[in-house]
Amino acid sequence: MIPVARPELGEAEWRALREVVESGWVAQGPRVEAFERALAARCGAAHGVALSSCTAALHLALVVAGVGPGDEVVVPSLSFIATANAVRHAGATPVFADVDAGTQNLTAATIAPLLGARTRAVIVVHQAGMPADVAPVHALCDPLGVAVVEDAACAIGSVYRDAPVGGHSDLVAFSFHPRKVLTTGEGGMLLTSREDLAVRLRRLREHGMSVSASERHRSDRVVLEQYLEPGFNYRMTDLQAAMGVVQLDRLDGLVARRRALADAYRERLAALPGVRVPQDPPHGRTNHQSYWVVLPDDAPADRDDLLARLHARGVSCRRGIMAAHLEPAYAGTASAPLPVTEHLTRRSLILPLHHALTAAEQDQVVDALAAELHAAPAPRAAAHAAQA
Ligand SMILES: *Cc1c(COP(=O)(O)O)cnc(C)c1O
Repeated sequence: MIPVARPELGEAEWRALREVVESGWVAQGPRVEAFERALAARCGAAHGVALSSCTAALHLALVVAGVGPGDEVVVPSLSFIATANAVRHAGATPVFADVDAGTQNLTAATIAPLLGARTRAVIVVHQAGMPADVAPVHALCDPLGVAVVEDAACAIGSVYRDAPVGGHSDLVAFSFHPRKVLTTGEGGMLLTSREDLAVRLRRLREHGMSVSASERHRSDRVVLEQYLEPGFNYRMTDLQAAMGVVQLDRLDGLVARRRALADAYRERLAALPGVRVPQDPPHGRTNHQSYWVVLPDDAPADRDDLLARLHARGVSCRRGIMAAHLEPAYAGTASAPLPVTEHLTRRSLILPLHHALTAAEQDQVVDALAAELHAAPAPRAAAHAAQA
């Protein structure tokens, strides 16, 4: 079975973990600080605040942006559900915006009609690593005092306007879940270039404490902490961060490999009529965190059927990006029509893409898809024949 994704882990991660275990300090400490500095430097931001997940990062981003009960936050429905959930965690209401069919991302044009007196923030997602066009969103939102948060869960190593994703907004959230390009098992990070936000985020992730546990440990005198506001336990561990530092060294190689594999898919899939594949937008370059394809409307098999058939041929695929407004969790949330979102979520699927994927495996994936798209009985053709 060809897996849809596989993290790239090796001896270097083992060594890094062993060092942490032998150091005796396994919770948030010096490795977390090192990982924060390295990622911030890599992505062009002044500060990194490591957290237990990207979901925690999105939640804290909204808290420090001043989002609370009674506020609205514009988000794409077409995203992993954590994007919408973070709005709920902050006590606010998600307002679902439609996406651009090409990038699968929000645009200033899809956001604009939804901005109102209660809008406090917008979360722009770089879906599957595809960079969103963030500058026009800032041009729209900044004059209105609406905060722009970037959900870059999938976008480590993606490029927007010739610079890495991560330095274009005050709050940019990354994930290190194993389905993303870099992994720490679980983990997340917020990048910011605002010192005041970094200070408050560090406090909030650690129970609202005035000094961190590692600062107290390093001090040569007794330090009594204060709890300045109700906080959370959203800390990353030094075990996770040590892996993160090693993984970050792999980033350029991982992205280059994914882009080469994506080029190979694009060439081969061009033979399948009507199958649409991801393309770099004019404003940036994707890291191809996930390789999604959109099926033609007249595909002979239903998407879910196709997933089962591909599985039977030894190819593990996944449905495309989900749509939160179609899930029971958001059944009660009012929403404007989202035709592009609904089309994409129903007609797209994710093909296997990971560092170790071979050319032969890619052939097997494309051959399986080609066979299923052409060989399955076409209901419309059969109906036509019956009439004739
Ligand atoms: C994976 C993902 C998240 C959640 O990340 P976690 O680190 O698992 O909390 C949020 N948003 C998007 C778009 C994602 O793909």
